[in-house]
Amino acid sequence: MGRLLFFALIAVLVFWALRTYVRGVKKRQEAQQHTLSVEGEDMVRCVHCGVHLPRSESVMAGGEIFCSDEHRRLHAGQ
Ligand SMILES: [Zn+2]
Repeated sequence: MGRLLFFALIAVLVFWALRTYVRGVKKRQEAQQHTLSVEGEDMVRCVHCGVHLPRSESVMAGGEIFCSDEHRRLHAGQ
């Protein structure tokens, strides 16, 4: 009877450990998805050619966003 109780305790411990592990993985996945969505929000669109690029790589001029300095000049020349 004591052995049965011991195995029951082991089963509970294994179940608890697995649940904690799965929760940790889910939390990490949610954190990664959050990071991705933040990067997604940080994408901007070139007003000249319409290409999407990260805000950090864009060129801003007169409140408008361009993918390159060349497109900024081309757009201003029109
Ligand atoms: Zn462009």
